[in-house]
This record gives sequence, C-alpha cells and structure tokens, in this order.
Amino acid sequence: MPSVLRSWKGLAVLAVLAAVVLLWLFGKGDVIIAVVIGALVLLSGRTMFRSYSTTKGPTGPAIDVQERGTLLVFACETCGEQLVLLRKGTDAPPRHCAEKMVLRRVPVPDHELN
Ligand SMILES: [Zn+2]
Repeated sequence: MPSVLRSWKGLAVLAVLAAVVLLWLFGKGDVIIAVVIGALVLLSGRTMFRSYSTTKGPTGPAIDVQERGTLLVFACETCGEQLVLLRKGTDAPPRHCAEKMVLRRVPVPDHELN
C-alpha cells in the first residue's frame, strides 16, 4: 500500500514537472505561477487538515477540574487572552492565534468564586 502511494506520488510529481516545462517552453510564465500558487494552497490545506486530524478526541466523559482556591486558565501567549477551564473533556489544549494555549493555575480567593 505505501509503495503504491509513493509511486503514484512520483508519477504526479513527474506529470506536474512535465507540464511546467511544457508551459515554460511555450512562454506562459503566468500560468506556471498560478499552478505553483495552487499547489502551495493545496499543500498548506493538507497540512492544516493533518494537524486537525491528529488532535486527540474526547478521552472519556468530561470531568470537573475545579480546585479550591485555584482557577485553571488557558492563556494565549500571543495576544494574552485567558479562558477559565471548568470541565475537561480532552487532553488537547485549545488553540488561539494559531498557537496552542498554555494551561496555568491562577490563585483566586475563595469568596470570588461564590
Ligand atoms: Zn490569541
């Protein structure tokens, strides 16, 4: 199965290269640029899709994570946004500004929770 996939990919790469060379010979540089941009978009889309599919799904029923005097907070290190975590359903951290958010424990006086 993997070898079949690899040879199919090799053929596709050869076909694209041949098409690019042919177009270049006919002096259609703008078409080549369009093809390259399309390939890049396809590639980045696949990479994004892969990163989504590797995200762990629910590991079980959601559990309360509230701790006395402490708030579990997901923080975005890019823009500074913070989200309070009340129930945990997966080990995968949420994303913000295209980065994984960082889990922090923020001490909170008891009376502020009630
Ligand atoms: Zn952010």
